[in-house]
Amino acid sequence: MSDVTIRDIRVILTEPDGIRLVIVKVETSEPGLYGVGCATFTQRPLPVKVAVEKYLRPFLIGRNVADIEDIWQSSYVSSYWRNGGVLNNALSGVDQALWDIKGKMAGMPVYDLLGGRAREAAAVYVHASGREPAEVADKVSAFIDEGFHHVRVQVDTPGYATYGTKGLDKSTESARGSSGGPRNVTTWKKELTPGKRYAHPPGIFEPKPYMNSALGLFDLVRSQCGWDFEMLHDVHERIPPIDGVWFAKEVEQYRLFFLEDLFSPEDQEYFRIVRQQCSTPIAMGELWNNPHEVIPMVKDRLIDFIRVHISQMGGITPCRKIAAMGEMFGVRTAWHGPGDTSPVGHAANLMLDLNAWNFGIQEYAIFGERTREVFPGCPEVLDGHMWPNGKPGLGIDVDEELAAKFPHSKWEFGGAWNEIRRADGSIVRP
Ligand SMILES: [Mg+2]
Repeated sequence: MSDVTIRDIRVILTEPDGIRLVIVKVETSEPGLYGVGCATFTQRPLPVKVAVEKYLRPFLIGRNVADIEDIWQSSYVSSYWRNGGVLNNALSGVDQALWDIKGKMAGMPVYDLLGGRAREAAAVYVHASGREPAEVADKVSAFIDEGFHHVRVQVDTPGYATYGTKGLDKSTESARGSSGGPRNVTTWKKELTPGKRYAHPPGIFEPKPYMNSALGLFDLVRSQCGWDFEMLHDVHERIPPIDGVWFAKEVEQYRLFFLEDLFSPEDQEYFRIVRQQCSTPIAMGELWNNPHEVIPMVKDRLIDFIRVHISQMGGITPCRKIAAMGEMFGVRTAWHGPGDTSPVGHAANLMLDLNAWNFGIQEYAIFGERTREVFPGCPEVLDGHMWPNGKPGLGIDVDEELAAKFPHSKWEFGGAWNEIRRADGSIVRP
């Protein structure tokens, strides 16, 4: 057994393309041997930094890098109270870095440590969105021409905020702010309570107009782009549960690859009802914080795709177990992979994608040029698939000098998730 130990743990904050990324670097007693991990929690980066530097660092310095499982288990209970998003992201940064180190020591990519590859490359899906259905359909066609077989489609709802487009809603996953366009301020002003302080001008969301515009989109995209490519859609919670049941049934005719985040975690018992009424494939999980939240959904086969955010779960160590559990129940993986998963996090996703036989699909947000430069070894996408580079560990690094040139910027309200409200002013759960 090796006697290499953890010498230091550092946090690197960088924002090369407008998304605040958090990277953890674990340095070892062996000169030049280190690992990197993703701890990105875009809305709360500073608490993650503190959790790593003030709590995990002193707790773990001197520990043998070989003991990933023991380090994960002991860190997990070191705060006694079970982890939420902040502590799990901090733990994930360390965990992924330790897998990176183990791979470098073994001279193997992490997927080999996990048991080897079940496939050569991971199929990815990309995002097509627009103001009009025709604009979205054109983007789908362009992606198909580029070799993508899976495309998520989202369209604006005229006059309302809509998730996943860049019109009236600021909460896109790939950008921190709206690319412009008027919000539904006229509607909002009628309802605004004098003297009350709201975050941003909130987006106004109403379920029926959203569902109508989404169904119109599916209709047009299927008629224009055909039935051979795989179409995906993200509801992003928001609609009342019984409307969600109706929507899942209505969508069945369009044969989606999956319908994502139909209900908020608070309402997930409704998946049982959806299951009894239609065969629309269901993906869920990015808002879960604990691996145990996955169990009831998988054991009763209420979802088809486990869609957890790996850093939000605490890293590779818990997620390899989640993937294995899914295989036993015929439930596939679809790890969350938006722009606010760093390239290091994407590299970790890829390791599990390649190893897990029950891999379903990998979300992919196209990396910006500056991001690719900050992260040498950034996973490559070709012909609709993400390919490993075969290097030991996670196969990715961070150029710290370059990363420092893109410090975290100050965001309104600290980077709070955009407020979405109903027309009567009540908050909508994302
Ligand atoms: Mg989602």
